[in-house]
Amino acid sequence: MEYKRILLKLSGESLMGNQGHGIDSGRLSDYAREIGEIVEKGVQIAIVIGGGNIFRGLSGAAKGFDRYKGDQMGMLATVINSLALASALQDVGVRTRVMTSIRMEPVGELYSQPKAVDALNAGEVVIISGGTGNPYFTTDTASALRGIEIHADVMLKGTRVDGVYSADPEKDPSARKFESITFDEVYRKGLKVMDLTATTMCKENDLPVLVFNMDQCGNLLKVLKGEKVGTLVH
Ligand code: UDP
Repeated sequence: MEYKRILLKLSGESLMGNQGHGIDSGRLSDYAREIGEIVEKGVQIAIVIGGGNIFRGLSGAAKGFDRYKGDQMGMLATVINSLALASALQDVGVRTRVMTSIRMEPVGELYSQPKAVDALNAGEVVIISGGTGNPYFTTDTASALRGIEIHADVMLKGTRVDGVYSADPEKDPSARKFESITFDEVYRKGLKVMDLTATTMCKENDLPVLVFNMDQCGNLLKVLKGEKVGTLVH
């Protein structure tokens, strides 16, 4: 396998499938099966999930919510999504542990790097929920942070597009996909791969990011086999 230990980032929106909101159980079981497949091959997997399918602090603030509370609501939304994926993983027989960045036993145990690493070494999938535990951050930044902390070989950013493009491919027919791109080029061209806090964390700590389409069945395994899928940002 191309990577031994990965940090998989899934957006909250990816969990809603075609429903437009909430959690699509079909999508969850697809993800669980794909993750189970690579666990069987001995890959260590930590997962960070977003909460955008349920609540985002920033859009809440636009509707009059207090940003601090709105962000806490967003972080709790990531916990809901994490429990849902943990349950789907258990259904397919994958040993899974949910950790939370905010103390809330017995929903999940409080995240700690050594405990997460021990669990990964023992072959468990570790879902790290609750973002960074702080407002004004995103789950992309949480993924970067946790990926760096656990010494992941790569952060796999599962999205609904198949990589990083020079422009929005839905609006600009001349947009082309990059096979690989440096962090500096991402800054220079103003490409929207992740927010800048997350991008900078990855650049400064040498955590490469592979952006790929997680909704295409089998892609996760292809990535792990080293097949040319998505865009590598390094
Ligand atoms: N959030 C936060 N701190 C974090 C991570 C997330 O406050 O460290 C909140 C923030 O309000 C964000 C929401 O949780 O809008 C959901 O996360 P995100 O928008 O990253 O989810 P995604 O877009 O990946 O579904």
